[in-house]
Amino acid sequence: MDYTIRCDTHTHTLFSRHAYSTIEENVRAAKAQGLELLASTDHYSSMLYHDFSDSRNYQYLSTAHEWPREWMGVTLLNGCEADIVDLEGHLFGWDIEVSKTITGDDFKYGPETLLHHVTKKMDYVIASVHGKRFADGADRVQCTKAYLGALDHRKVFILGHIGRSGLDVDVDEILLKAKSMHKLIEINEHTMDTDEEAIRRCRAIAIRCAELDVPISVATDAHISCKIGKFTRLPAFLSEIHFPEELIMSRDKAHFLTALKQSGITDLTDLI
Ligand SMILES: [Zn+2]
Ligand SMILES: [Zn+2]
Repeated sequence: MDYTIRCDTHTHTLFSRHAYSTIEENVRAAKAQGLELLASTDHYSSMLYHDFSDSRNYQYLSTAHEWPREWMGVTLLNGCEADIVDLEGHLFGWDIEVSKTITGDDFKYGPETLLHHVTKKMDYVIASVHGKRFADGADRVQCTKAYLGALDHRKVFILGHIGRSGLDVDVDEILLKAKSMHKLIEINEHTMDTDEEAIRRCRAIAIRCAELDVPISVATDAHISCKIGKFTRLPAFLSEIHFPEELIMSRDKAHFLTALKQSGITDLTDLI
């Protein structure tokens, strides 16, 4: 099977603070790798700044919709990787209110949640678990509910690296809900550089996606431009389990944008 991947749907710029390249450097790298589409999905979480209620700390994300759609021949999508912060599956900022613009004026239509403020104009959101303290002592049913709840968020299109979080979950239940909502399960290259246990969990998830016919997104999760679009271990990983190529929505731009449209999050079919 051909595991050439022409989209990178989960990447970071230096806005993420433990990432090192600009958006231009990432687009340039995407072009050099022959990608058709790059999605920039910086962290949106408590990792960034102390003062969560200050919209000035998130202006990079909240204005990213102003980027060009096409840059150096690469289609550019803007989004973020939002942290799941509780067992209900809420995303970071859902309970934080912001009321002032970056210049200090009141919002024209009144206060809104930080989550809505940051994500409302984005193409899509990836929901991931990073800090796991919220799940201390939680059982499988509760941990599963966190991912199921995250899928209910209107802008969430992809569940990021479930295998890496290591939470004890009912994988089938999550996969089937994602499938029913036309949302994607992510398998990413960056996880292949972590521990064997995480890779084993990813393999089990990928096998169930294949068996249950659940579409996935394959991405690098690059934190530096030289890793954009570089799939070094994933092709062999997918090949070993004979993963069906047609379930990889990020294999090219047309399939990824069609899947995004199907999810109802945004309609970018004019780009296909
Ligand atoms: Zn990161
Ligand atoms: Zn990431």
